[in-house]
Amino acid sequence: MVEDDEEDTWLVESALQREKMAFTRLRVDNRDKFKDALDTFKPDVILSDHSLPQFDSIEALEICQERQMDVPFILVTGAVSEEFAVSCLKKGADDYVLKSNLSRLPLAIDYSILQRMYKHSQKEQEETLRKQNEELKKLNKELDLLAYSTSHNLRAPLRSVLGLVNLSKHELEQQNTAALAQYFDLMETCIGQLDNTLKLILENSKRSGLEDEVEEIDFSKVFEDIFGSLKFIHGEHTISRVTTVHPGPSFYCNSLRLGLVLLNLVSNAIKYYDPLKKCPYVKMEVFHEQGQIRIIIEDNGIGISEELQSRVFDRFYRATEKSDGSGLGLHIVKETLERMNGSILLNSKKGIGTTFTVKIPTCEKS
Ligand code: ADP
Repeated sequence: MVEDDEEDTWLVESALQREKMAFTRLRVDNRDKFKDALDTFKPDVILSDHSLPQFDSIEALEICQERQMDVPFILVTGAVSEEFAVSCLKKGADDYVLKSNLSRLPLAIDYSILQRMYKHSQKEQEETLRKQNEELKKLNKELDLLAYSTSHNLRAPLRSVLGLVNLSKHELEQQNTAALAQYFDLMETCIGQLDNTLKLILENSKRSGLEDEVEEIDFSKVFEDIFGSLKFIHGEHTISRVTTVHPGPSFYCNSLRLGLVLLNLVSNAIKYYDPLKKCPYVKMEVFHEQGQIRIIIEDNGIGISEELQSRVFDRFYRATEKSDGSGLGLHIVKETLERMNGSILLNSKKGIGTTFTVKIPTCEKS
């Protein structure tokens, strides 16, 4: 109670006791005592007279607001103008009760406490809704990514098969069985590639779906899987590959996402190899560093000219007519790395080769 008058204090107490309210109270009559009471007494409700010799209700209200206190504040005062009462309510008071009508006080206290509780739970619900909304947005982005990457990996071999079917029809008319046999072989290769991609997707979705499952990464196994699924890609047999995994602290992340990133980068290094080079290669080097992993994927392929480098991560962008892809691979890589709080750096020279540097922070063990 912010009150300087003993008699008024007694009147307030009596009004509450009449309604059988159980309470303990502390009366203060200046700024310092009020502040002190907020810290030590920790009131459930503040009843404040308007004007005291050294203090007033507006000041008390301001102190409560500065401290962002969630405690009902009721003005208990003698006659005040309606304007003044309204301005107090606007400033954040919960209610005002005239000293000439103290029988209303118990109800005003109950109501203010309930009102605060209601607002509090409303805020909590809003916060929960906001969090759920954020989660949904993330999941939506994730689903988009999954749809892109699935269609990206399935379309290229499907289009090749379609082209080969058309060519075969033509050769069938010509009764050219030798050419037909060759096309069937090629179709078999494409279908094998398709099957591998599907297996990879199925295996991954079985393992972790869209969830952020975290596991310790065995890089030898990761690269083995990747080369398994790239078996049928054009150029795979011509290109030598060197994998170096430097030892260091264990690394944890979502293996599905990591696989997606590396699969796209390694398959590009193979797809965009330079047939004019004597020894085309792709080198993969993994550095286990404190708190993160650094992976370097280097090739001596056709390279990307400087002016196109800033665009290769854009969705549907292809930097060469050699690409029969959808221009989604590097976009998927970038989005996936963002999801993993990682980063990617491109270094390339046309005619010389390309190096991608990927950094990913390690996750907490799940
Ligand atoms: P896609 O391969 O389907 O065209 P990507 O998003 O994977 O799409 O790559 C975008 C473009 O970047 C490719 O079209 C290609 O021109 C270029 N690119 C990507 N990786 C390499 C690489 N290792 N060497 C040369 N060019 C590359």
